[in-house]
Amino acid sequence: MTEPAPVLHAYVCTVCGSDHVTRDAWAAWDVAAQDWVLEAAFDYAHCHRCMGGARLERVVLTSPVTFALPEIAPSATALPETTTPLTRPPAPPGGGFP
Ligand SMILES: [Zn+2]
Repeated sequence: MTEPAPVLHAYVCTVCGSDHVTRDAWAAWDVAAQDWVLEAAFDYAHCHRCMGGARLERVVLTSPVTFALPEIAPSATALPETTTPLTRPPAPPGGGFP
């Protein structure tokens, strides 16, 4: 009996494709765990490559370690296999901050 492998996901920036993205969140001290634990995650997302506000897209990992997005290159035509085609719309003016 083997269970099917769980589907793993990553979140990537819809502008640059980087997975170096974070969201605003609250962490609360857990006395039993003696550590900060995530209590709430908010809508605001930040891309650390674009260095600004970002929209995130959830993608399915195509291997256990990576979704294999390429570095940004104007001639890049072969996107990795993902469940959702990644597009690169133009960067928002002002870095995406409202
Ligand atoms: Zn980005």
